[in-house]
Amino acid sequence: MSAPDDSAAGPWVPDTTWPVLQEFWAAARTGHLVFPRCTACGRYQWYPQAMCPACRAMAFAWDEVAPDGYVFSHTTLRRSFVPGADGQQARHIVLVKFLHVPGVTLVTNVREDVEPRVDLRARIAFDEVGPGVSLPVSELYEV
Ligand SMILES: [Zn+2]
Repeated sequence: MSAPDDSAAGPWVPDTTWPVLQEFWAAARTGHLVFPRCTACGRYQWYPQAMCPACRAMAFAWDEVAPDGYVFSHTTLRRSFVPGADGQQARHIVLVKFLHVPGVTLVTNVREDVEPRVDLRARIAFDEVGPGVSLPVSELYEV
């Protein structure tokens, strides 16, 4: 029996063909952050749902939003739970709330090896993880 092939380890690449999130991934590919907003009551809905939980409307538009927020919560993965990821550096994960997008919380990796804190600001950027596929990541900085 051979050892697992560590060369296969790399960033997770999402399925960007899932219709519910196609608009999100299309915008991410060009470096823009969008969230679905109910066309009836104006409420942002993240993660996307077919029906607005506030007014029960079934129509959403995707609005480009400012990528500026703050760390609401965080965690750090210091050991691997999956084969092939042993030896990778600690991964910081943050929950970001946005300054101008009420009700939305986005989970992202932290781009640099910056220890997260709840009082840090976060700016969403995008890292290409596959051909035409970009993931949102947080750049953390002091206020
Ligand atoms: Zn609504």
